[in-house]
Amino acid sequence: MRIDPHTHSTASDGTSTPAQLVAESIGAGLDVVGITDHDTTDGWDQAAAAAARMGIGLLRGVELSATTRGIPVHILGFLPDPGHEPLQAEFAAIRESRVTRAQRTAELVARDFPITWPDVLAQVGPDATVGRPHIADALVVAGVFPDRNTAFAEVLYQDGPYYVDYYSPDAADAVQLILAAGGVPVFAHPGAHNRGRIVPDETYWELAAAGLAGIEVYHRDHDDEQYPRLSRIARHLDLFVTGASDYHGAGKPNRLGENLTAPSVLAAIAERGAIEVLLP
Ligand code: AMP
Ligand code: ZN
Ligand code: FE
Ligand code: FE
Repeated sequence: MRIDPHTHSTASDGTSTPAQLVAESIGAGLDVVGITDHDTTDGWDQAAAAAARMGIGLLRGVELSATTRGIPVHILGFLPDPGHEPLQAEFAAIRESRVTRAQRTAELVARDFPITWPDVLAQVGPDATVGRPHIADALVVAGVFPDRNTAFAEVLYQDGPYYVDYYSPDAADAVQLILAAGGVPVFAHPGAHNRGRIVPDETYWELAAAGLAGIEVYHRDHDDEQYPRLSRIARHLDLFVTGASDYHGAGKPNRLGENLTAPSVLAAIAERGAIEVLLP
């Protein structure tokens, strides 16, 4: 079984629609794909219809933006009840703050590069969660940089001169919110040095105490030091280990299925989640 539980669609900052994401997952030989857009469940229904039609398993999830010790982090929430009001209210608050933040970022970037806020908005899907990748796309369209990664490395990196904060909950609260919604919380790419500062060991203890269920150990943004470190922490805290591509479609090098999650771990997620894994 090939299971890639963490990907993005045009409901946030991916470039494939949910239906295209599902079709591409079949092309990549996956048996189960997870759709985990940033701070939204909007892509779920289209992905579910496509998965049923095309015959592939679908793991419905989200990637919740959070903050700990001033560091932005991402908490995956698998199989939460999408009707959980506090979860949707938090998503709405984060998404609203992301728009203000993106507009401010675009103003800063526009001082030095030939893009405007409408250029950024042209890159954002209808009702999609706005993120820095959309600003990167505007820079690529303007011919300033060849791809998203270069735009991040040169301009949009965390804590750089164009970086603007946005509202997001404390990471332990984010874990508890996902649990309250019946979801299964997993710490996404916690050792991604290349994106900026990473959290100290204490944070894993704090999040485990809050109810964290797993750690995403296998991710392209982890260097070789992170695998043994994160595996050891997971073992110590009795957390399960996941791996995923964090596919964002065209414009990022991540390929579907480049990292996978074990079937036994998917079974543990399915057992705990408020809703079903959709199987073909
Ligand atoms: P945001 O949520 O708006 O802060 O943007 C975060 C998204 O930008 C992540 O989901 C990644 O896909 C992407 N990203 C973050 N850091 C980098 C980086 N250094 N290089 C390329 N993409 C990045
Ligand atoms: Zn993203
Ligand atoms: Fe992430
Ligand atoms: Fe992601």
